[in-house]
Amino acid sequence: MDDKRKELLKGLPKIDEVIGLLGEKGIDEKASREIVLTTCRDVVQKLRDSILTAQDNQLPALSTDAAAARNVEAIIDDLYHYKLKRLVNATGVILHTNLGRAPLCPEAVERIAEVGRGYSNLEFDLAQGVRGLRYDHVSRLICALTGAEDALIVNNNAAAVLLALNTLAENKEAIVSRGELIEIGGEFRIPDVMTKSNSILREVGTTNRTRLADYEKAIGPNTGVILKVHTSNYRIVGFTEEAELVPLVALGKQHGIPVFDDLGSGCLVDLDSYGLQHEPTVREVLATGVDIVSFSGDKLLGGPQAGIIVGKKDVVARIKRNPLNRALRIDKFTLAALEATLMHYLVPEEAPRKLRSLKALTEQLRDVKKRARKLINKLKRTNIPDLTFELREDVAAAGGGSLPTENIPTIVVTIKHAKIPSNRMEAKLRQAAVPIIVRVDEDQILLDLRTVAEDEFGFIVDALRQILAN
Ligand SMILES: *Cc1c(COP(=O)(O)O)cnc(C)c1O
Repeated sequence: MDDKRKELLKGLPKIDEVIGLLGEKGIDEKASREIVLTTCRDVVQKLRDSILTAQDNQLPALSTDAAAARNVEAIIDDLYHYKLKRLVNATGVILHTNLGRAPLCPEAVERIAEVGRGYSNLEFDLAQGVRGLRYDHVSRLICALTGAEDALIVNNNAAAVLLALNTLAENKEAIVSRGELIEIGGEFRIPDVMTKSNSILREVGTTNRTRLADYEKAIGPNTGVILKVHTSNYRIVGFTEEAELVPLVALGKQHGIPVFDDLGSGCLVDLDSYGLQHEPTVREVLATGVDIVSFSGDKLLGGPQAGIIVGKKDVVARIKRNPLNRALRIDKFTLAALEATLMHYLVPEEAPRKLRSLKALTEQLRDVKKRARKLINKLKRTNIPDLTFELREDVAAAGGGSLPTENIPTIVVTIKHAKIPSNRMEAKLRQAAVPIIVRVDEDQILLDLRTVAEDEFGFIVDALRQILAN
């Protein structure tokens, strides 16, 4: 090792000295001795690594104990800042998986606070004074809304699929069409989930065409389940054919094999009546006599992350008894939020008024435009120099693996700064106190008003002020 490097290593901050300096600054009030010590070690180790790995001509400067102490303190201070933040989704992707999918309705948020604040009857039957089941609180509501015989809620729909397949087809074959072996994103691939559920994938048909006879031929003594998967985020168009659920259900009945439909998004309202393409509602799907249907709580439903399993009583009972269920079970906050969300569906026309994601999906273009005009007016009144705003038509998306071919008309407010390039503006907006997530198109920022509510305008103004003030 060269002398310069040796000298730098010898001059590394001394842990005891750094801790001494931090003690004088009252670090004990902010973190335990163990945390301070490990953070000091990490900081010094990083300095050591940088000395050891730097190119000869890029050796770092000698670091002082005081600089290391400041560094440690900054790292500890940062632990007090929330990393999971609310933000403004101005992307126009309504169910944006990276941005937390569906925002909760106010009632759901209140219920989480109420139930979380104290103890609850999560697993306690108040009428009998004995142990109860956590699902019972919402299963009656779900059954009323879908016509199901029974329901079970788990952590998310991926868990629902895993649990249902493991229950119905462990060491047995699950028959599924080649056109439905989909990837949802975030590593959720149907074939992988099937492997993990210990069921044996039995592919039938072809990518674009699968007939009832293909399923029929595959049925044998080791068949556990017939699986139908909603293709969610993609569509096969052109020369295609798929087996309808009704004859599949009849086929299953004939052979005593349960039929399971993974609906993905799972919709409880008639989207056609809002001018959107038809999505089979959970009630319609169950009316085919299918044994089990699973869907997400935070996609089209517009509630918290959850996996909802509905269907025939005896099949749901088998799934409930699966020990895996314990590992995938739903928590009390999700239950509280789901219960409040589902109540809005009792009068179906109310749901799009009360649930923000459904509202965004079904809102008339003229109302989106009104909101866009209000935002432009508000932005103009801020008199921030060098900014120009315009309004134009564009297309938004449902997202979350829902309605992939639906081009939802929308209105965007474009923002252009005379001196700052848009990709820099985008990055700065992303780092505002309440981050604003936008689209960038040519050299413009686009704020899609379909996913921005009026009570979020203040955040946009604040963010623009923050980033342009310095
Ligand atoms: C989204 C989706 C899932 C996974 O649901 P999560 O709620 O994200 O766990 C499973 N199957 C289908 C068909 C889906 O669209």
